[in-house]
Amino acid sequence: MFPTFTLRYSRLPAHFFEPFTPVTVEQPTLIAFNQTLAETLGFDLTAFDEQQATEWFSGNELPPGAEPVAQAYAGHQFGGFSPRLGDGRAVLLGEVTDRHGQLRDIQLKGAGRTPFSRGGDGRAPLGPVLREYLISEAMHVMGIPATRALAAVTTGERVMRRMPEPGAVLTRVASSHIRVGTFQYFGSRHDAEAVRVLADHVIERHYPELSDTPEQDRYLALLKAIQQRQAELVARWMGVGFIHGVMNTDNTSIAGETIDFGPCAFMERYDPKTVFSSIDTGGRYAYVNQPVILQWNMARLAEAMLPLFDADEQRAIERATEVVQGFSEQYLDAWLGVMREKLGLVQEEDSDQALIEALQEAMRVGRADFTLTFRQLGECARGEDGDAALLALFEQDAGIRAWLEQWRARLAREARSADEIARHMQAINPLYIPRNHQVEQALSAAAEGDFAPFETLREILAHPFEEQPGREAWTLSASPDEAVFRTFC
Ligand code: AMP
Ligand code: MG
Ligand code: MG
Repeated sequence: MFPTFTLRYSRLPAHFFEPFTPVTVEQPTLIAFNQTLAETLGFDLTAFDEQQATEWFSGNELPPGAEPVAQAYAGHQFGGFSPRLGDGRAVLLGEVTDRHGQLRDIQLKGAGRTPFSRGGDGRAPLGPVLREYLISEAMHVMGIPATRALAAVTTGERVMRRMPEPGAVLTRVASSHIRVGTFQYFGSRHDAEAVRVLADHVIERHYPELSDTPEQDRYLALLKAIQQRQAELVARWMGVGFIHGVMNTDNTSIAGETIDFGPCAFMERYDPKTVFSSIDTGGRYAYVNQPVILQWNMARLAEAMLPLFDADEQRAIERATEVVQGFSEQYLDAWLGVMREKLGLVQEEDSDQALIEALQEAMRVGRADFTLTFRQLGECARGEDGDAALLALFEQDAGIRAWLEQWRARLAREARSADEIARHMQAINPLYIPRNHQVEQALSAAAEGDFAPFETLREILAHPFEEQPGREAWTLSASPDEAVFRTFC
């Protein structure tokens, strides 16, 4: 039933990882399995055996051909550098080749103490496992690159966090788990040879189009390409009000996927300073800071890759600096692309940025729900019938009436019909997002053994752009007594 492993990462030099066998758990129960993803990965589901799957996805038994390793990496956490982080609770079983011919990592998260665990217990509580399951899948369905959730298992054991919680293991699928911090691990050790081996592996796996670039430019082109994917990724986060929460360099994927869903959350009322994570006391990773932090992370990547850019260090620094400075333009283009599309604009006009910013300002002053504002604008694109419901999202006018007029004048200069524009907007502006209070409710019910709210939410989030009759309640922002202001990892 399990697809054949193609072992790639574990064939890299021995100091890239530590061999590690998952620690067995007491009483595993399979609580979620992603059939669609499993099919894409080449699982033979006609031979699906729940008992067997439970053994595999809990780490109690290794699937045939797996060679489990904990990956080495370093990272800047909230700005401070740790030269050795690594998989403290995760194990890479190996890669499989999916139906599109792409290599995909299969990783168990919460698989026990590894040589990188330091003080940690190597385990994952059920709540965060289910949050990652829901949110990573929701991101994927919304077209935002993200790691995927293949399975979740409860372990029958308790893990101690703020309170004792049921333990769980998540099976995570990623294009790879190589991070900015993986480059930093070797860069900070001045192991230029390892940096080159890693860069070559990354090119082969994620940026094969660069393999023909002349060697003196290839690695700089790699930096620029990684930066481009990350710029597009963060622009997409901004377009759905997603706040990652822990944009440390060890949580920044080289493949450009959203990775490590910890205290992440979606903004409700628009406020650029929004922070949910209980550990982000300084607001370093607030919504509005995400692009700036990403550029900072790219500068750290550039530092780690420096010896690859030029034999002369000064020249290498100059070349890298030029690329990292180019981030601002890469990001602005990506962000304008995302926001134009959200507003139904295909043609590009110089004043578009000001138009988008004026809407944001109205949303901020009017404390309007981010998701519902864009969704309702899709209705407004059809005609004025939708205006009352839009205005009702704003606590005060805050300039939104005047803005609507401006936007309509701008739409009139587009080539598409109002109906086409409206349909396109409804196809890309979600109606359902993983709202924090709903996620929290699903997680607390699951902690009591009731998985029904999790299942319902999972079903709803599988179709974020479609109106789902009878499920209007899931479109609404939290009432004051439901609102969640802090998330924990
Ligand atoms: P994260 O905040 O999840 O990105 O993790 C940062 C670092 O802490 C990584 O090296 C993780 O492997 C490690 N870590 C997080 N939770 C645990 C845990 N429960 N046990 C051991 N290591 C952990
Ligand atoms: Mg080793
Ligand atoms: Mg992490």
